[in-house]
Amino acid sequence: MDTDKEITIMLDAKIPSGPLTEKWDKHRFELKLVNPANKRKYNIIVVGTGLAGGSAAASLAELGYYVKNFCIQDSPRRAHSIAAQGGINAAKNYQNDGDSIRRLFYDTIKGGDFRAREANVYRLAQVSNNIIDQCVAQGIPFAREYGGLLANRSFGGAQVSRTFYARGQTGQQLLLGAYSSLMRQVAMGKVTLFPRREMLDLVVINGQVRGIVVRNLISGEIESHAADAVVMCTGGYANVFYLSTNAMASNVSATFRAYKKGAFFANPCYTQIHPTCIPVHGTYQSKLTLMSESLRNDGRVWVPKTPGDRRPPNQIPESERDYYLENKYPSFGNLVPRDVASRNAKAQCDLGKGVGETGFAVYLDFKDAIKRDGKDVIAQKYGNLFQMYEKITASNPYEAPMMIYPASHYVMGGLWVDYNLMSTLPGLFVMGEANFSDHGANRLGASALMQGLADGYFVIPYTIGGYLAGTDRPEVTTDHPAFKDTVHHASERINKLLSINGKRTVDDFHRELGHILWEYCGMSRNDEGLLKARKLIQELRGEFWENAVVPGSDKDFNQSLERAGRVADFLEFAELMVVDAFERKESCGGHFNEGYQTEENEAKRDDENFCHVAAWEYKGDDAQPELHKEPLVFENVELTQRSYK
Ligand SMILES: Cc1cc2nc3c(=O)[nH]c(=O)nc-3n(C[C@H](O)[C@H](O)[C@H](O)COP(=O)(O)OP(=O)(O)OC[C@H]3O[C@@H](n4cnc5c(N)ncnc54)[C@H](O)[C@@H]3O)c2cc1C
Repeated sequence: MDTDKEITIMLDAKIPSGPLTEKWDKHRFELKLVNPANKRKYNIIVVGTGLAGGSAAASLAELGYYVKNFCIQDSPRRAHSIAAQGGINAAKNYQNDGDSIRRLFYDTIKGGDFRAREANVYRLAQVSNNIIDQCVAQGIPFAREYGGLLANRSFGGAQVSRTFYARGQTGQQLLLGAYSSLMRQVAMGKVTLFPRREMLDLVVINGQVRGIVVRNLISGEIESHAADAVVMCTGGYANVFYLSTNAMASNVSATFRAYKKGAFFANPCYTQIHPTCIPVHGTYQSKLTLMSESLRNDGRVWVPKTPGDRRPPNQIPESERDYYLENKYPSFGNLVPRDVASRNAKAQCDLGKGVGETGFAVYLDFKDAIKRDGKDVIAQKYGNLFQMYEKITASNPYEAPMMIYPASHYVMGGLWVDYNLMSTLPGLFVMGEANFSDHGANRLGASALMQGLADGYFVIPYTIGGYLAGTDRPEVTTDHPAFKDTVHHASERINKLLSINGKRTVDDFHRELGHILWEYCGMSRNDEGLLKARKLIQELRGEFWENAVVPGSDKDFNQSLERAGRVADFLEFAELMVVDAFERKESCGGHFNEGYQTEENEAKRDDENFCHVAAWEYKGDDAQPELHKEPLVFENVELTQRSYK
């Protein structure tokens, strides 16, 4: 019997009392412990093998728990985290340039436009330093200075250099570190890996999450797995825009199915449009490529001063170039946060000053940096990114400026979690990009890797023990009727998708959905457009279930079927995004409602009425979701209008 509706859900963030700097220490002391010999009695499911899931699975197994670890890809190493380029933040202050835990905390709170929870962000800044130590001990080849110390570079929204990096492949190196720790536990029999599995649903018994149902993507078989707790680390939903910098398999399905089982979805409208991506070049393109923010350490962003100037960049003299970020934001220059840089690029293109064939691009120019530091130095820092750019565009960025344009990249929204990273469903923990926790309305560069690894290496190992030791859970196996029910529903949905037998491809629906969101719920939004988008999404969803074509069978490897399931979820979830954006009558970070802007076109918050997390509860397919608010209380920072001038 699935009894998840019988419990009353309270939106209590469980923030420990006491001074900000002592909350985490105090909480760790107060959390119940599972004694070492008892840990082996518990089974934990970790869904996802990216930086959050990989680090969590390895750490929990190292503690002694039995872990089952699932992922879509053929190897944990292929999680989307592998693509992360620029770096990971930490408050080590190796540069002696004024950094501290407090400054990293403040920059992150301000960068998120004062829409994140203070206690979580402070803890993140505190454990950031442990992450670097852990990764160095694993052998991550971070860039080093001449003397052997770890090197740093700058990222947006900060005036100190605190980003640790391994060329433009930081995610890859960090993931290999987590993967090594994971495989050590696999070899010791503490972690069982389940690659090529897609989580279709959660199993909730007596109000507690007790397992998952997955599809074996090779055989098509539907499998059930029971556990004492489930840790979801399934990444972000930026692919809802169709074109994004995310891996093709990144999805909302896992978190959205959890939402439908009772986990609240927080701030779904907070999405990040990254300013420096290779511009769209064709209708049938399925993917966009990021050019890391680290490039803005040395690259200068500009457009021609005169709208419609079509001359090649090297024929436009200095006096006719507009370095608009440096001019408008002299303190932060090209390293303003992403939301600010993206909106400014759009504004320049809207004025007719965009470059390239489509006019939807601005220049990112390394000429001055190469002149100052030499080509070799620039190649050492960004060589692989330059090579990637040249391969895709056939233009050599050492000789001509890159052309870049904003693209969907990251999501700050995700499943609501408390200070312990537990969702509103007891026993369901959510980590990494899949939760909403630490970035408010805008994430600063190099903070996602920090958060994923903080969650996995340093937070969950404590907080899950508190849950396991502090709750009673009856013995449950996959023979329980709730598992049978969930398998039945999952199979029914698959059969429904396969029997639509329409004429339009799933990708075509997805592409149209992406257009709707980009137009009406993208870099800027307004009430009229959001209402229109909601209607368009509902119509498109209706058509999908009448006219989509999903070839093949469910008893086989069938990527069309996989994609159809994910797009069906995107079509429902997109409406939640739009509802959330419409409800938030202010602008903050990545949520820019044109009706709420300062005279200088910056986001204008309404702290009196919207200083809260918006957490949505599913109420049925045809019902309006219910809004719950978690008030955000700021005791350690003063709420100000964000300024990067
Ligand atoms: C191109 C690019 C560059 C970036 N560079 C940086 C950077 O330099 N610094 C930084 O801080 N951040 C960066 N980011 C952001 C950062 O990479 C991500 O936010 C982060 O890696 C997400 O990690 P994760 O563990 O939460 O999820 P992911 O790495 O996305 O992993 C998700 C895991 O969940 C699994 N999964 C998903 N759905 C299911 C399902 N239904 N069933 C089973 N398994 C499932 C997947 O198989 C995968 O194993 C970048 C992002 C992109 C796109």
